Amino acid sequence: MAAAVCLARTGLGAQQGVDDLGHRVVGPCRDRAPRQILRNRRQAEVVLLQGLGHREASWGAGVELVPGGLGTGIGGGLILHGRPYNGSFGAAGEIGHLIVRAGGALCSCGRRGCVGAYAGRRTMAAAARAMVVAGRSTDLFEIQRDEAKERPTSKVWARALAEEDDLSTQLFDAAVDAIAVGVGSVVNLLDVSQVVVGGAMADKLGQALADRIFEAARPWMLHPNPDLTFVVSALGDDAGVVGAVSLARAAVIGG
Ligand SMILES: [Zn+2]
Repeated sequence: MAAAVCLARTGLGAQQGVDDLGHRVVGPCRDRAPRQILRNRRQAEVVLLQGLGHREASWGAGVELVPGGLGTGIGGGLILHGRPYNGSFGAAGEIGHLIVRAGGALCSCGRRGCVGAYAGRRTMAAAARAMVVAGRSTDLFEIQRDEAKERPTSKVWARALAEEDDLSTQLFDAAVDAIAVGVGSVVNLLDVSQVVVGGAMADKLGQALADRIFEAARPWMLHPNPDLTFVVSALGDDAGVVGAVSLARAAVIGG
């Protein structure tokens, strides 16, 4: 008998909430690519994952944690009592849109002062371009060209930081500070036992990034428990793929 592969479900990461079954996007999907994929795959049941948290959670992390995806944008998710927490309306875990500075920088969501207005490669690259136009110098875009990349990728940022490029360092410091304020507040609210830092930047910078965010978040925590840990994601940049597959598997055959 010939081997058969049945694509029963499709996994997508999206900047939107999902319903409590994880099958349906909540609210309009603003990104054109996912919307197009949804149209093209209408016959396939689509599993939408909101941020890294659900992806990491679906791999079976057994502890309470608040993962943060530090990559193109800032994603996140909540694992409470060992299970993903989607919220009442499927939109929980929007760590990137926690307000860390009232009236602050403009975020892609249209509001001001979100974590994502300071952190994430897309935001940081836009800020770097604006500052170059305003007269600042940086090696960031030269490194980008040298690495033959179309945009400042995690590798480009990691190299700019390693080479102590002033502007890149300044923007990265601001990003870490914004994430730290947000995560510190999340710890105050939920008293989680672990924060997992994932995404492409975490992949490049490793546990040093998780340690740095922990130290930057500590002053914002009311009573940081000695057992609270910050770790870098074990799944690295594969978290989305692994999570999508394991969610789909769980939905089809259980487990
Ligand atoms: Zn926002």
